[in-house]
Amino acid sequence: MLRAVTESCSVLPSGQPLESQLSLSMGTAAVLGLRRITTDAAPTTAYLLLGGRCAMDCAFCAQARNSRARADALSRVLWPTYDLAEALSGLTHAYSQGQVQRCCIQVTTRRHAVEATMRLVRQVHQASPVPICAAVQPRNLRQVNELFAAGAERIGFGLDAACERVFVQVKHRAPGSWQQLWSLIESGAKSFPGKISVHLIAGLGETEQEMTRTVQALADWGVTIGLFAFTPVRGTAMENLPPPPLPSYRRLQAVNFLIKSGLVRFERMGFSGEGKIVSYGLTEAQLIDALIGGQAFQTAGCPGCNRPYYNERPGRVMYNYPRPLTPQENQAAISLVLEALEAPGGG
Ligand code: SF4
Repeated sequence: MLRAVTESCSVLPSGQPLESQLSLSMGTAAVLGLRRITTDAAPTTAYLLLGGRCAMDCAFCAQARNSRARADALSRVLWPTYDLAEALSGLTHAYSQGQVQRCCIQVTTRRHAVEATMRLVRQVHQASPVPICAAVQPRNLRQVNELFAAGAERIGFGLDAACERVFVQVKHRAPGSWQQLWSLIESGAKSFPGKISVHLIAGLGETEQEMTRTVQALADWGVTIGLFAFTPVRGTAMENLPPPPLPSYRRLQAVNFLIKSGLVRFERMGFSGEGKIVSYGLTEAQLIDALIGGQAFQTAGCPGCNRPYYNERPGRVMYNYPRPLTPQENQAAISLVLEALEAPGGG
């Protein structure tokens, strides 16, 4: 029975048919009034999860084919299931009250996953004017077109790896599939300027130089980057590996922000022999001036996406701040960026 169920994509982690149920992140369920939880950072995007165990086998992912993690987990977040009509009515209300700015449908890869995503996009679009992200793996530009035609406002590609080497090693993808996906992202970005997002995870074995090169290339296509910190999840193949060192992640958050702001370019930056960032091509004063607002260290992604506690536990080290930083937090973050720079003034 399980085998038959897992083949079809119109099911949820609970095994329930799509038509009647929907999985929501715990924080989203609370904002939509479906659950009581205590949190100091509510999601400003409603996160929906579609599909059961994935056909892919990414070593870091709770939903991977060979993962032993909880079936209702994605990253370190749990995704309870609700009645579809109840969830859509909660979403419609939350958006009308300004409690959420966007809805993001996260989809595990399997047969008919894109078609099931289009169905859900249409259902959400009919229920509410909330901007919809489809974080799904289209197979070709035709499917990209169809997702936008169904009502998606943005498409989020799960590239995750910063380079082909890591893509093949950690996502267990065939050589050549990196180029295929890279080309699809490029054509999607050219066909739908400013409407494509790409997820990149820091800490999967790439160097800061490899990550920066990819951030620059995507930014040159007008792609928005959703930056994540690798988070070890129990039951996954990478459960015993550490998250990225915080100073390294701060340097990458700064590079994503500064490249997006047009203040630095990969070609003008400096890297150590191990591929660490040692210069942004700016003086220290220019760097502090650019980072003083703190936005660089907040969750990066689509407008309104703050992904609270996706990559960290409440009360622990914050990788992505889901809210504006305090002056002390910002000062600490900037100090971590500056500490590894080669020359005084960071030139
Ligand atoms: S950046 Fe956020 S809203 Fe955009 S696709 Fe990714 S998770 Fe969804």
